[in-house]
Amino acid sequence: MSGIFFIIAEECRFRKVRDGGKKGYYMEFVPKWIAWEITRRCNLRCVHCRSSSEMGIKGHPDFSTEEAFRVLDDIVSYATPVVVLSGGEPLTRPDVFEIAKYGTGKGLRMGG
Ligand code: SF4
Repeated sequence: MSGIFFIIAEECRFRKVRDGGKKGYYMEFVPKWIAWEITRRCNLRCVHCRSSSEMGIKGHPDFSTEEAFRVLDDIVSYATPVVVLSGGEPLTRPDVFEIAKYGTGKGLRMGG
């Protein structure tokens, strides 16, 4: 489990390809802005909450810091979007700044 992602904006690029004797173009969609729900925990219980967040999460524990780093590595291998750390309340994760720093070190623009 690596949280829920929402790709809010993406860029469409056209790439020239050569396949044997054929030439052509294909479209490639590159994410420009990703919202990543890094936790379902939240200290509030808003009636309008889309993610049904609460402090005591049973059955859907947060993924580890190392898993978060792997997800960021995967993102960077493909694109360098803005990554917004969301939730729940992302500040309930003790490693939220560690995750943000790791992403920044990989060249991502991290926000929350
Ligand atoms: S995640 Fe947002 S909407 Fe949901 S309970 Fe927390 S503050 Fe409210």
